[in-house]
Amino acid sequence: MNNIPPDKRSPFEHERDLSPYELGQIMNSNDFDWFQSECKKTAIYPRGQGLSYTALGLVNEAGEYAGKVKKFMRDGVIDDKAAASEIFDVLWYAAMCAEELGYDLSEVVEGGLRKLRDRQKRGVLGGSGDNR
Ligand SMILES: [Mg+2]
Repeated sequence: MNNIPPDKRSPFEHERDLSPYELGQIMNSNDFDWFQSECKKTAIYPRGQGLSYTALGLVNEAGEYAGKVKKFMRDGVIDDKAAASEIFDVLWYAAMCAEELGYDLSEVVEGGLRKLRDRQKRGVLGGSGDNR
């Protein structure tokens, strides 16, 4: 863990409140936090370097997934089971990245969904920039 205060509620800015009904349609936060806790049980990496280690792992696994897609471009077939396994590896590292930042995975997911819904309602899903 790092020194980021544990009282942070969401990693996202520019979000608006969703009603409990809207949130209920989006997610069951317990599922994401359960997944994160399961990932944590299998997390073996140098403590004190977790922030960097998990970031590198996330990029590495995304690259492994991209490699499967690259081979599809070359060969015209994709090993979908191997590709799905790489997607899981990405999710594992994403969960541990959140852990290293001091967030519950549900906070990251909920905050991200709020951001997307807000952009959708304002008609700015297209375009670029983190703070649309
Ligand atoms: Mg992998």
